[in-house]
Amino acid sequence: MKLSKRMANIKPSPTLAVSAKAKAMKARGIDVIGFGAGEPDFDTPDHIKKAAVKALDDGFTKYTPAGGIDELKKAVCVKFKKDNNLDYEPGEILVSCGAKHSLYNIFQALVYEGDEVIIPSPYWVSYPDMVYLAGGTPVIVTAREENDFKVTAEDLSSHITPKTKAFVLNSPSNPTGSAYTRQELQELAQILLKKGLMVISDEIYEKIVYDNFDFYSIVTVEPKLKDSTVIVNGVSKTYSMTGWRIGYAAGPGDIIKAMTNIQSQSTSNPTSIAQIASLEALTGPQDCISDMLQEFDKRRTYMVERLNAIPGVSCFSPQGAFYTFPNVAGVYGRRSGDVEISDSTSLAAYLLESVNVAVVAGVGFGADDNIRLSYATSFENIEKGLNRIQKAIEQLQ
Ligand SMILES: *Cc1c(COP(=O)(O)O)cnc(C)c1O
Repeated sequence: MKLSKRMANIKPSPTLAVSAKAKAMKARGIDVIGFGAGEPDFDTPDHIKKAAVKALDDGFTKYTPAGGIDELKKAVCVKFKKDNNLDYEPGEILVSCGAKHSLYNIFQALVYEGDEVIIPSPYWVSYPDMVYLAGGTPVIVTAREENDFKVTAEDLSSHITPKTKAFVLNSPSNPTGSAYTRQELQELAQILLKKGLMVISDEIYEKIVYDNFDFYSIVTVEPKLKDSTVIVNGVSKTYSMTGWRIGYAAGPGDIIKAMTNIQSQSTSNPTSIAQIASLEALTGPQDCISDMLQEFDKRRTYMVERLNAIPGVSCFSPQGAFYTFPNVAGVYGRRSGDVEISDSTSLAAYLLESVNVAVVAGVGFGADDNIRLSYATSFENIEKGLNRIQKAIEQLQ
């Protein structure tokens, strides 16, 4: 069967692939410690589940407007005002089947054959593929580790060409956990404004920040960017609701309308009962977030410390999200018997096979010197897993 040319660059998500492999090993009875998780390990808070049950009981089980119900769009507007001091109207909001779907719709709406989209690397795995699917060309700009995995205004400038259409910003970042300060955003914003580029700002980890880090949306920092930015956010990470599939986008009305049309011709509306649950998530009690953060923070501190204590490994201390992204290049060149550890893929394979620990190779995020470990797993697992990793790396010759 001959697939369309469009599929030439499309790969399955490597993060989902690691989780699947670890799950399969577990099913065979192997005691695998998984650091692959891309979702909080906590259950969805009770009050949110109850709202969904009530929606079911109330018979709220039919199609809704393609772009989401008005009540939820209004709640999203209130959230933007309260958290980001941004004024959006319901006509500037789209509710999608997850933030991922909002992002997909943005690229479909904005990017055409030949357009370039600048993506800082390490990047969330889906951005380049989504650009390819829209017919565009991802242009990767390295966010250097010595600059805390952030791109500077200079890095950005040097990658802009007449074909550049948009810039993707993800702060706090998956996979690095790095987050941009107000000043850094201001510097990027000036270039983006001057060059008239669209900005796609993925703010899904907005609430998952540590050490009193002050999160800013780039639009809050530079309000002039509001007409050329689409902000993406959602309930998946903040409220442990990955399976509910609700995300949202805020941006200029004409872009949101185009995205809504794409959605209406592809998936129609996000699930009715999940929208009601998300309405409760945004408008109900918020203390579930601080409980989660406290636990994440404990694990983060421990994990960074343990990783930094392993010879050949150095780990940046992330300001947000729930991942560490240690540099493991110091281990490359060492051997286990016949096998040489030469890159992130061979190290990840070695850890899985020798000590049954699943990590994600950095190469999938555009950073082959690193691996990603999620701390969205119990403290006990983290302790056990790090003992195993340390042992496995120390055994290399
Ligand atoms: C998890 C994640 C998403 C997608 O979240 P959903 O709302 O579950 O689709 C988008 N961007 C980044 C950076 C993520 O880590």
